[in-house]
Amino acid sequence: MHKKFLFAVATLFFIYTNAQLKSPDEFLGYKVGTRYTPHWKIVSYFQHVAANASANVKLEQYGQTNEARPLLLSFISSSDNISRLEQIRLNNLRLANISKDRAAPIEEGAPAIVWLSYNVHGNETSSSEAAMMTIWALVDPSNTKTKEWLKNTVVVIDPCINPDGRDRYVNWFNSVVGKNMNPSLNAREHREPWPGGRTNHYNFDLNRDWAWQTQIESQQRMKMYNQWMPYVHVDFHEQGVNNPYYFAPAAQPFHEVITEWQRDFQVTIGKNHAKYFDANGWLYFTKEVFDLFYPSYGDTYPIYSGAIGMTYEQGGGPAGGLGALTDEGDTLTLSDRAMHHYTTGLSTIEVSSLNASRLVKEFRKFFNDAVSNGVGEYKTYLIKNSDADRQRISTLTTLLDKNEIQYEFAAGSSKGTFTGYNYFSGKDDMFTIEVGDLMIHSQQPRSAMIKVLFEPKSKLVDSNTYDITAWSLPYVYGLKTFGSKTKLQSSAGAKPATITNNVSDAYGYVIRWLGLQSVKTLASLMRQGVKVRFSETPFEINGQQFDRGSLIIIKKGNEKLGNSLASIINQTCNTNNIKANTITTGFVDKGFDFGSGKIHFMKAPRVALLTGEGVGSNSAGEIWNFFEQSIDYPLTLVNANDFGRINWSDFDVMIMPSGNYRFLNEKPSADQLKDWINKGGRLVALESAVGQLAKTDWAIKSKKSDDAADKKDPYTALQVYEEREREFLRSNIPGSIFKVQLDNTHPLAFGYPNFYYTLKQDDALYEFIKDGGWNVGVLKKDSQVSGFVGSSVKDKLNDALVFGVQDMGSGKIVYLADNLMFRSFWENGKLMFCNAVFMVGQ
Ligand SMILES: [Zn+2]
Repeated sequence: MHKKFLFAVATLFFIYTNAQLKSPDEFLGYKVGTRYTPHWKIVSYFQHVAANASANVKLEQYGQTNEARPLLLSFISSSDNISRLEQIRLNNLRLANISKDRAAPIEEGAPAIVWLSYNVHGNETSSSEAAMMTIWALVDPSNTKTKEWLKNTVVVIDPCINPDGRDRYVNWFNSVVGKNMNPSLNAREHREPWPGGRTNHYNFDLNRDWAWQTQIESQQRMKMYNQWMPYVHVDFHEQGVNNPYYFAPAAQPFHEVITEWQRDFQVTIGKNHAKYFDANGWLYFTKEVFDLFYPSYGDTYPIYSGAIGMTYEQGGGPAGGLGALTDEGDTLTLSDRAMHHYTTGLSTIEVSSLNASRLVKEFRKFFNDAVSNGVGEYKTYLIKNSDADRQRISTLTTLLDKNEIQYEFAAGSSKGTFTGYNYFSGKDDMFTIEVGDLMIHSQQPRSAMIKVLFEPKSKLVDSNTYDITAWSLPYVYGLKTFGSKTKLQSSAGAKPATITNNVSDAYGYVIRWLGLQSVKTLASLMRQGVKVRFSETPFEINGQQFDRGSLIIIKKGNEKLGNSLASIINQTCNTNNIKANTITTGFVDKGFDFGSGKIHFMKAPRVALLTGEGVGSNSAGEIWNFFEQSIDYPLTLVNANDFGRINWSDFDVMIMPSGNYRFLNEKPSADQLKDWINKGGRLVALESAVGQLAKTDWAIKSKKSDDAADKKDPYTALQVYEEREREFLRSNIPGSIFKVQLDNTHPLAFGYPNFYYTLKQDDALYEFIKDGGWNVGVLKKDSQVSGFVGSSVKDKLNDALVFGVQDMGSGKIVYLADNLMFRSFWENGKLMFCNAVFMVGQ
């Protein structure tokens, strides 16, 4: 007995100290692809490899998700390269002209850097399984081929960009699959429930977030990416079950900044993959569907950052399960899917290794060209910086910082005037440079990205694109900008100073309503129980002018806070970098006194967000994320299907995101909604929710399209079969910028000039509200500014309501027909959304 025990301990000790590097199959205890691997096990395997192949692998945790799952990068190369990994990284930044030390780079012998990103869409699950197979092939001692590649190549593997989404899918799938998987697509295991695992915790699509970095996964990952700057980047995806594999070269449109080399090498890579797919008899396609235009993808962002960026797509996705019956009668298994991604991953490393010196040379040229010549016709973008713009300028510089775009603030006013493209007028105009104006010069390493983000109109060689076609930052941020064809010279000044308030006990305080910092201040004051009012008209007091929407905090109503009111104001305004103006009297010089009916008391709204089955998960997620992560204001998420069972008197504001609302067709619930509004409730309807309300007999009406625009020669109207995919483009608006006229005397448009640049994604139009309401944002003729709009809808988009408020009993319905905070990067719309929640109806 005693002997046996000792033997067991010795055996354990032996196994522990001589732990063998295991393949994923050995480590997991099942063959990859026969089961779904939860994220923690994938992490364990990567840790196992790093611990047992430490000479060739370095594992780094770069962050964690909203649900506290770790985010990992694994660096794999020859032991020689791994031992000087930091030198390789620094030399690479020197090659890209972005190193701070300005030391000379060494091009000769610099290894290629290949970055493979898996599972950005959580329910496209085969790729993280393939990641384990791929790292194994790289470290497997018997695989001599990969060892050869690793001599001149550093491979970076992110095994799972979106662990929260992946586990949402995997946990669900494992809970519904039977003893044996069922390949029939009718089976429930192929029908993933709302909101699906594609997105992250807040239902954001992380493959739309590379440039904007609104989500913590992207923020943490991009810090690493920008410290490394790979030459080749692959984003692994899945598509419909019946689609053959897709790999590079990509489809048109290509953005014009993409270089010949970047185009050519995509073909080289694609041909290398084809070799393996041909040998195995696998089907694939290239040059179709997946284009290179919108800058915030895992292929375009790397391309605009000097790399060869690519998307690979395997058939499968959430309908794939462990096996799925295709239209051709084959069963596509998870093993097949993982094997295909594994094959293209290794082929990418191989072809990069074979071309390593060329990759290094072209990478360096990309950045040298950027620094010496700059990309695009504008040498400097000048952004005017008035007091009213300060908050949005500060949000913009945060975005520039995230993308390592250099900028400066003008130190002094330059004599004379200059001429440049005025984004707001759409033509060349004169302008001056004044202290504090923001300047971005194109001659810098990130020049291509700057051009893509700032150009007023992107050149589309093919309008059949996957995504929106306009995102020019001056419109997204609503900032007056000039594009100058000559480089503007001005001495660089300091960043605007942060504001420090030190108000003392006084009659009251006024805070201007200028942007998100103002909203955050209001939200924080409300949370702290401070009573706030706002003025619906401009006023002048103590020689200072204040515009509509200015927040007024006076002692009246805040007696219980006593002397602490001043310190709450100081602390809250300092945190939000906003000025609190002291006032000593309620007697205004111009406008209305604070006791007037034009000064409104603001009740802290109790806000509900409709969510769940039928609701657009991205749209609901944008709002959920905004309340929690941007303004930190309480929000209750309610399932739309529970509508009839909710005590709505607990809420003041109901937000209805884009979606499909069955309860509007069910009389008891529809009556309940009307009753709640009549009693003082405020309904905020977004995008397609507006369209749904327009089908009822008590809300806004859809505008019938003008048929005259459709009348044409009957023969030219006949469709040509081969052109059928093109034909739909004539009526398509994939996302284009329009100028909306605003009535900024209405609380919904407080804080805005009399116009707003909106992102239009559909041709839904609404009639003007004739009685009992306000047409706050309207679309006039010829208001399209940037992006693609199909020829058959272009002429119809005018004389319609985009943003409006309808009075109903004691309540209101706010119509927001366009998305005001698209993917959370459409900065200038957020204030209007907040007006709908906090200002309208107070
Ligand atoms: Zn995908």
